Amino acid sequence: MLNIVKSISILCLVSGLISCIFYVFFNISPIGIFLLCSIIQLTSSWYINTYINYKNNKLIMSQQSELISRIESEATIAPCTYCDHENMIPITPNENNDFECISCGEMNGVYVNITIAQKTVPIDAEPYEVTSFNSSKSNIPDVIKADNSNNDDEE
Ligand SMILES: [Zn+2]
Repeated sequence: MLNIVKSISILCLVSGLISCIFYVFFNISPIGIFLLCSIIQLTSSWYINTYINYKNNKLIMSQQSELISRIESEATIAPCTYCDHENMIPITPNENNDFECISCGEMNGVYVNITIAQKTVPIDAEPYEVTSFNSSKSNIPDVIKADNSNNDDEE
């Protein structure tokens, strides 16, 4: 309520000052200038507020999506040892990762197990074919093919 009174008094003060200046220097009717100034101030303040809200919402959205992606990359699904309910818990190395089950409220301890594996590199080979056609037989020289067909005729 105090903010509204403050805003209206500032609006009237600015509009009154500008209309006084216009009346003194240009002898223009102060009421028209006062109304015009008030409308301009109201629309510009509305526009600025909308813009600020839009910027803030955009910032909050980007922060939330960043937080969610961070949680997703560091979190894991752990079943509760009491009720077997699956909990999504963030895992941070070198810290206590104990969590409270969201289903039964019991505290669970987390022990992080590190698994070491050899890294594999994709080999430079032709991919497997998923077809009944045997491409290796299509490269048989024509002479052999002809021989086979002659043998077939004799039988
Ligand atoms: Zn539980």
